[in-house]
Amino acid sequence: MMNDFPIHYTDCLVCNSKEIQKVLDIQDYTVSKDFFEVWHCNQCTFRFTQNIPSAVNIGPYYQSASYISHSDTQEGFIHKCYHLVRSYTLQVKQKLIQKTTGKKTGDLLDVGAGTGAFSKTMKNAGWLVTALEPDETARQNALEKNGLALLSPDQLYQCKPDSFDAITMWHVLEHVHDLHGYLNMFHTILRQNGRLVIAVPNYTSYDASKYQSFWAAYDVPRHLYHFSPQSMAVLAEKKGFKINSMKPMWFDSFYVSMLSEQYKTGCNQYFRAFWNGLISNMKSLFDSKKCSSVIYILEKK
Ligand SMILES: [Zn+2]
Repeated sequence: MMNDFPIHYTDCLVCNSKEIQKVLDIQDYTVSKDFFEVWHCNQCTFRFTQNIPSAVNIGPYYQSASYISHSDTQEGFIHKCYHLVRSYTLQVKQKLIQKTTGKKTGDLLDVGAGTGAFSKTMKNAGWLVTALEPDETARQNALEKNGLALLSPDQLYQCKPDSFDAITMWHVLEHVHDLHGYLNMFHTILRQNGRLVIAVPNYTSYDASKYQSFWAAYDVPRHLYHFSPQSMAVLAEKKGFKINSMKPMWFDSFYVSMLSEQYKTGCNQYFRAFWNGLISNMKSLFDSKKCSSVIYILEKK
């Protein structure tokens, strides 16, 4: 696939250190089959995909029927599991937002809303929801299936200061080219006691170390960034936030392990995937820093 004008980083996006080095060569298993380098910052432990397509050129890397975040196809065992689990986790997410903001209802900004499942859940719970989504097909589906009018991400920069009690990004921040622009804007539009909720994969999890370059949540080049709890804390601090708390995402360990087994062995290894997902979760029972994906709840400093 074309990657004519890749973005090459010469220092760490999070801490600006020059002590960065290549640690992994990873294949794009879902769309292009191209290889990408993942680099590591020795200073803050942030990882990033090197030589990434620019925001205007990355579109083709999202063109896949199996990229399920943006569609609602229900084919195959993994997809069925995904959708079953999603309806349960939507409820968990709703309760989490209500608990962490201390509000039954309020103003929510959901960034990267997909087809609007979470936005709809919150709307039904009485929240006033503004939702952004870059993919036009996803926006159309959101309107047709969920009756939601999602806005394009450019609208973020039109939001007024102190507008939201909660801003959510469920597996979205790792896709955003304008990392600093987004976080600066979030700081402006979030109310003083509001919460910024960021769910991202955790490359320091057990399943990540088990699968290494086959770990599905590297998902290059769509995942531009690969966070560790340490690098998230550094980034939060730099942007005027602090980490209020961290929550594990139990189901992600299983889901990511299933995909990783597929990439590694070329076939479905449900038992082995379940086993590795289980170990990952057992390890994160007492330490959410070890979970496959982590929800970071940030508040303003
Ligand atoms: Zn760094």
